[in-house]
Amino acid sequence: MPHSADRVVVIGGGVAGASTALALQRSGIDVAVFERSPEPRDPADALQIWVNGMLALDRLGLGDEIRARSEPMTTQELRSWRGRILQRVDVAGLASERGLPQPFIVRRSDLLTALTNGLDDGVLTRASCVGIEQDADGVTVRLADGREERAAVAVVADGMTSEVRNAVFGRIEPRYAGYRYLSAVSEHQDASVPPGAFQFILGPGDRFGIHAGHRWSLWFAALVGPPGDGEAREPKKQTLKERFRRFGGAVEGFIDGTDETAIEATDVEDLDPLERWVSGRVVLIGDAAHASTPNLGRGAGDALEDGIVLADCLADAAGDVTNALDRFEQRRRENASDVQKRARRIGKLNSWKNPLAVAVRERIMRLASGATVKEIKTDFARFAAIADDSCAPDARVAG
Ligand SMILES: Cc1cc2nc3c(=O)[nH]c(=O)nc-3n(C[C@H](O)[C@H](O)[C@H](O)COP(=O)(O)OP(=O)(O)OC[C@H]3O[C@@H](n4cnc5c(N)ncnc54)[C@H](O)[C@@H]3O)c2cc1C
Repeated sequence: MPHSADRVVVIGGGVAGASTALALQRSGIDVAVFERSPEPRDPADALQIWVNGMLALDRLGLGDEIRARSEPMTTQELRSWRGRILQRVDVAGLASERGLPQPFIVRRSDLLTALTNGLDDGVLTRASCVGIEQDADGVTVRLADGREERAAVAVVADGMTSEVRNAVFGRIEPRYAGYRYLSAVSEHQDASVPPGAFQFILGPGDRFGIHAGHRWSLWFAALVGPPGDGEAREPKKQTLKERFRRFGGAVEGFIDGTDETAIEATDVEDLDPLERWVSGRVVLIGDAAHASTPNLGRGAGDALEDGIVLADCLADAAGDVTNALDRFEQRRRENASDVQKRARRIGKLNSWKNPLAVAVRERIMRLASGATVKEIKTDFARFAAIADDSCAPDARVAG
């Protein structure tokens, strides 16, 4: 059985696993990724990649390639379903004040392709992990085809429902958030939502978001209620038109201007923040560690940040990998848990249906513009550290 003191196996080749593998490879660490999906996936969705994710892509040398295929996000605007502007934030301006890149809307397929294309031949193997054991000297990962892989560290990046996490840390069930998403990438344009604008329109309960681009846009609708009926052939456009008929503005045009088959349905779930991400030589990252609801659009960006920080910590391990994993957890867990909690809180607030509560919420949002800017600036101050060696013991959270 092969044994290597410095080999790392990564379980799962999604955003978290692929970015970690690439960052480790760039640091000269021997890495192998095992991805369950037998073919390269071609997901149709797109993601807001927040500032920390864009910084991580720059560190990986992929930022410009991704920007060329993606749509920049400049402003973030909250509106009531009656058309009133509640908040407007110049996100790109705040980022540039700090010397940080602006967020982008990125097709998931472009992101996964760029990450996996960067891996050396033989690093990515399409095989499912079915078991994991560790001892004082290393970790053994068992694959579905009977093979065993031995390494110094196992990085568990198999997503929110992670079976490998459940085997090592005990079973953890995702929690349904109380709303489902219907979302699509569309070429529809509307002059009232210029390219670069993110418009988020809050109704009683349901809400609609539009990330407008120059060539294509991403929109999503959050529908408060029970989870979807899996296999049911729901007439999605009809559902959306009924649920959003009172929303004016650009909403109806985006629904009409999108093919029924392009609309994806997802029951929104998240995890409670975990007490630990590390057990000996096994470390959780990405959604396996900190799946959050999409209300802040941060899961993939945070997964990219995990990859960079973990690779920095392992590159600095000086033979003590368990200590390096503990330092990674110290660097990332508190921030990621905070994102989980904030995203959950925002999802609950935005799901309010009672007209009086909605009126109070709108008033609070109008008064809270300054607080939103402050929160974004606090995040951005922390992100500035990612541009450097983020695992150095003295890389402190600024501001
Ligand atoms: C509706 C919705 C909208 C979202 N919008 C945004 C957004 O705008 N911005 C943002 O940043 N985030 C967004 N997210 C969150 C984002 O999608 C996730 O945070 C991100 O995909 C996490 O990446 P991951 O690699 O950790 O997990 P995953 O993407 O789940 O990847 C896990 C991988 O592990 C593989 N795998 C599973 N089990 C095994 C096994 N046993 N062996 C080997 N491989 C295995 C899977 O095949 C998969 O490829 C959104 C999520 C949802 C649901």
